Parts: sequence; structure tokens; C-alpha cells
Amino acid sequence: MRWDAIIIGGGHNGLVCAWYLARAGKRVLVLERRGIVGGAAVTEEFAPGFRNSTASYTLGLLDPAVSADMDLRGHGLRVVSRPFSNFLPTEDGRHLLMGGGQSAAAVARWSEKDAAALPDYERRLGDVARVLRLLADRVPPSGDAGGIVRAVEQGWRLLGLSPQAKRDAIDLFTRSAREVLNGFFESDPLKAVFGFDAIVGHYASPDTPGSAYVLLHHVFGEVNGEPGAWGHAIGGMGAVTQAMARACERAGVTIRTDAPVARVLADSGRIEGVELADGERIGAKVVAANCHPKTLLLDLLDPGLLDPGLRARIGQHANGSGTFRMNVALSSLPRFTALPEPGDHLKSGIILAPSLDYMDRAFGDARAHGWSRRPIVEMLIPSLVDESLAPPSAHVASLFAQHFDPNLADWEQHRTAAADAVIDTVEAFAPGFRASIVGQLALSPADLASRFGLVGGDIFHGRMSLDQLWAARPVFGLGAHRMPVKGLWLCGSGAHPGGGVSGRPGRNCARAMLGRV
Ligand SMILES: Cc1cc2nc3c(=O)[nH]c(=O)nc-3n(C[C@H](O)[C@H](O)[C@H](O)COP(=O)(O)OP(=O)(O)OC[C@H]3O[C@@H](n4cnc5c(N)ncnc54)[C@H](O)[C@@H]3O)c2cc1C
Repeated sequence: MRWDAIIIGGGHNGLVCAWYLARAGKRVLVLERRGIVGGAAVTEEFAPGFRNSTASYTLGLLDPAVSADMDLRGHGLRVVSRPFSNFLPTEDGRHLLMGGGQSAAAVARWSEKDAAALPDYERRLGDVARVLRLLADRVPPSGDAGGIVRAVEQGWRLLGLSPQAKRDAIDLFTRSAREVLNGFFESDPLKAVFGFDAIVGHYASPDTPGSAYVLLHHVFGEVNGEPGAWGHAIGGMGAVTQAMARACERAGVTIRTDAPVARVLADSGRIEGVELADGERIGAKVVAANCHPKTLLLDLLDPGLLDPGLRARIGQHANGSGTFRMNVALSSLPRFTALPEPGDHLKSGIILAPSLDYMDRAFGDARAHGWSRRPIVEMLIPSLVDESLAPPSAHVASLFAQHFDPNLADWEQHRTAAADAVIDTVEAFAPGFRASIVGQLALSPADLASRFGLVGGDIFHGRMSLDQLWAARPVFGLGAHRMPVKGLWLCGSGAHPGGGVSGRPGRNCARAMLGRV
């Protein structure tokens, strides 16, 4: 049987792409190398009786239109909002608690000036995010006639920004997070709460030019209609992708797991299908790759099909987000020195990195030592809002830590010490935490690469920097999802608009494949 379309990879973007193609009447086959679909958005048991999102751990970027089109709610997805967005304890035992309608008062305790500046910051970031969200929903321009029309349409949106918003957009794309935040605020904890978004998955200092863009990328989304908010999918991130898989199956998509693709087959410059690792060949009119662009173009595609210059440039595609991901099973809740009693602050994103200087030191340490011995940690305790994850009265926590050199030669040797550094960091803010751990999973950048196929452990399928965004994602010339062989497409996070559980690359790619751009 020759399929209308094969999708290489059953990550969330592969599933979204498959669903839109199937809804347009195409016969679609998804081939996933792992035993489960979901890619980096999965829920797995990591210790007996304890389950949690293994990699991606919080939902906020998912495009509401994708969710509605696929009727993810109808397929069982339920998302709860955080009562507070972030809790940031400081080393001197104070804290900043953001969200819950109380941000201004909380910030005023640190700086009246910052509290007064907060609405201006939110409005100005919101103005830029609104336009970029529109661009995120479009296929970027390419060199053909349709692409030129798209360039004009999308450029027009940017030109339509007010002069202030244009200045802000340029600053956000090019400047460091610290430079942008210093333009608004003076207090360290507030700059740290916002600056954290700039180094998530970005192996850089908040002083690195361009880090402000990553901050902006993380405010693109919404949860339950609230822009910029983050929430929890009941059942963990795997609940999102399981709902997507059910929607796909309902739409007629065939999904095969344990089906690693070893080669993309092409004849006379046109896609013919794929070959699996066991030698099985499957024919298709078109193939869309949800895997990392380097995997597709350097490993799966015959080198003779790529222009040598383009192949060399793909080889230099910047990867490696420097993240270390842990799940811990807990016998009791952590007691933070800054706010020891249980409360809604524990249901927020707990940021253990009290200043931009702390984050800069963490990056410097990773560069010098291989990983940061006082890393930047975000902790979430999803079992507080989701009983399905842990036995009664026990808990699970996600620990998402930065900075850990993705290119360190032998992560196998360093994993335990790096995990200790993460736990020590939590312990410093919440004494007794280490003693409460009854099980754990620690994933180094190398583990993220081997387990999920994330080249260099990069959580976004490639750095989110100006040279790898929009029409230049993954590289200039391949920015419209269309790969250099006829009938070959890229539908994962390596394509515009990049990483995060958004569904946008998958949906936009399907549109491009169907000629609906
Ligand atoms: C540790 C970590 C934390 C994160 N935290 C968050 C978060 O909290 N919120 C958020 O929104 N985002 C987060 N992200 C980012 C987000 O998870 C990813 O950007 C997103 O899941 C990528 O989705 P995707 O479908 O494009 O690719 P992937 O999820 O990477 O899926 C690609 C799929 O292709 C499969 N594949 C690869 N090669 C082959 C092959 N040869 N044959 C068959 N199948 C193949 C892989 O197994 C995988 O299933 C995080 C990521 C990581 C790693």
C-alpha cells in the first residue's frame, strides 16, 4: 500500500500534522521509534507507583486553535491553571510570589518603582507577543511567488506596530535579557522571575545578546484563555499527546510505534517513502519529518540528495540547550525556609535562582566545569493538583535544571554528581528535601538525546536565536517546512515557530503540504 503521507516521529507536532492531513482526506501513517507516542511530551512511571511527565512538564504554549480543532478536551484532556505563576525564594529567607492577582503588591514589597513599572512591561511585551503570535500561525516566506506574497503580508504586520513596539521588538530580538529587564526594573527577584524564561533551554547567560527573545517566546501562549499563563495537564504532558493520538485515530490516522525510520527513500529527486531500521520499505507520496532537522537531513537522507553547501550549513546548525531533567518521588512536601507551611505557592513554578547574577554565574560555572554546581532550578509539584501521579500522601516533583554542558564528553560519568548538585540546590532553599526523596530519575543532556532523539539534548530542536528563526528555521532557504527533496517536509520544532508544546509547526506544515497558505 502506498500512503498519501508518512510522518517520521509521533511527537506532538507529528500527531498534529497527521491529524490535519487526515482531516483533509489523506491516508496518513505515523512511524514512531519509541514504544509510545508523544516525543518529549510523555508521562511515564519513573519509580514504583510514581508517574510524571518525563521531559516537558508544564503546558502554556499549546495553540488554542489546535486544541479546539482536534477537540482535545473531547478526547479527555483537562488542564488546570496555576493559582500563582511563580514562587521565588531568596537566599536571605525572603520571597517573591507572582500571580494570583497579587503580583503588584508582592513586587511593591521589593520595589515600589518596579510595581509601578509592571503594567507597562506587561503591556509592551504583550503588544509584541500579539504580532509574533500571528506570525507563529503562518508559514514563513520562501523564494517562490507564494512566499513573496507571504513576506509582504507578514512584513506588513511588523510594519503595523507602533514605533515603541518596533523598538521593543528589535530590542527583544537582539539584546540580552538583562539589558531589556534593566530598562524596566531594579529589584533582583523580579528580574530573576522574568529572566528565568530567557535561559530556559537556552545555554546562555542572561547577559548573552539575543537571550531576550527566548524570554518573549515563553510568553506567547495561554492557559484556559489567560495569555502568558502556564498550567498542568491532568495525567501529565502524556495526557496531551494521548488525547492527540486518540484524535488522530478517530480521524483515520494509522500509528505504528517501535518503528524507527532508518532512511528516507527518493528516486529522481522525488520522495518515494521510507525504510525502517529492520529493512521494511513503505511507500508514500509525501513524507513529513517530526524528528530533529539534523536527523532528517544528515542521517536519514542520502547525502547525494543535498547540495554540499547546504549540508555543511546544516552541520553547523546550533543545538544543545544545556538542560538536566529530574523527577523525584517524595515522601513529604518540601518546606521552603522563605515560606515553610504548605500553601498555594507550592502549586506554582518554583524558581530557585534569585538573581540574574546567579544565572550568569551558573552559565560561567558550566562553561568552566562542565555543569553548574549551583544550577538554576525550576521545581513543580504536580501531584498537588493531580492525584493520578503519586500514591496517597506522597508526591512527585519535576526538577528542570540549567546549565549543563551538552557537549561534555562523558555524561555517564557525571550524571550522579550533577543530580546531586540539583538536589543540593533545592536543599539550600528547603532543608530536609534530600531526606524526603524516595525515588528518582535523572536525565543528562546525553540521556535526553538518546531517549527522545533530541540532538545535543536540545529541547527546542535547535537554538532559538535570530539566525534560526522564522524563514531561517532550521536554516535560511528551508524555512517554509519544504525540504530540498520534492515531497519532503519538516513538521517538528526544528521548523518555525520553534520549540515548546504548541502544535504550531505541525499545523503550519500540514497547511503548507495541502497548499493552504
Ligand atoms: C527536558 C525538557 C523540558 C521541556 N519542558 C517544556 C515545558 O515544560 N513546556 C513546553 O511547552 N515545552 C517544553 N519542552 C519543549 C517541548 O517538549 C518540545 O519542544 C516539544 O515536545 C517538541 O515536540 P516535537 O513534536 O516537535 O518533537 P519531539 O517531541 O522531539 O518528537 C519527535 C519524535 O520523533 C521521533 N523520532 C526521531 N527520530 C525518529 C526516527 N528515525 N524514526 C521514527 N521516529 C523518530 C522521536 O522519538 C519523537 O517521538 C521541554 C523539552 C524537554 C526535553
